[in-house]
Amino acid sequence: MKGSPLLQDQLSEMGIVLGTETEEKLLAFLAGMLNWNKKVNLTAITEPRAAIEKHLVDSLTLLPLLRGDERLLDLGSGGGLPAIPLKIASPGLQVLSVDAVEKKVVFQRHIARQLKLENFQAHHGRAESLSNNPLWAGGFDLVVSRAFTALPAFAALALPCLAPGGRIVAMKGGDGVRELAEGSELLAGLGLECSEVRSLRLPASDAARTLIVLVRRNEEEDH
Ligand code: SAM
Repeated sequence: MKGSPLLQDQLSEMGIVLGTETEEKLLAFLAGMLNWNKKVNLTAITEPRAAIEKHLVDSLTLLPLLRGDERLLDLGSGGGLPAIPLKIASPGLQVLSVDAVEKKVVFQRHIARQLKLENFQAHHGRAESLSNNPLWAGGFDLVVSRAFTALPAFAALALPCLAPGGRIVAMKGGDGVRELAEGSELLAGLGLECSEVRSLRLPASDAARTLIVLVRRNEEEDH
């Protein structure tokens, strides 16, 4: 998929501008993922146009929410989504990517080495136990997830790792706003509130996406 116009067209439809080298790295990540997928179950989406959209472009919809120098934690990242595309496109991020399935984490480490990603760590473990590590408790400016778990459950797992002033970002489908409304009491009970909702559509399939940003209630005015 070297220099794929499929990727360039989709990125430009989303208003995302990246250099050629960055695009090549994204495609190398995807090629590596699809190659490992033959032996380790990383994804069911393998058709090139759909894989570019659902793995690369969808992950990169978070870019406008980033400054670029954050400590970013991705919970339940599977084959490294959205963590690895974000790290490739925004190399100043410090990323911890966590998944409970060791084979997936082994793939992430392999591809991170191959692509020479610095300040990227893939951790095999459960989200529930991350804050036992004093380096990780309260250590992240952004905690993100895609296709991980229900919004309040994700928020509860993210919260112990959130730095003061940090944000939790859930990547949801078209039903994200309904999920937010249904979870609002539980989120309030955690001391969280929604500071922003971004609704968008993916360029090839027109699939709906919702980015939900949560912050600690008494910190809202900082953002
Ligand atoms: N975020 C990736 C994506 O969008 O392609 C993977 C999504 S996959 C549906 C959910 C992932 O969450 C799986 O890889 C699973 O192993 C991981 N997972 C589930 N529960 C977990 C937990 N408690 N701690 C860490 N990872 C977990």
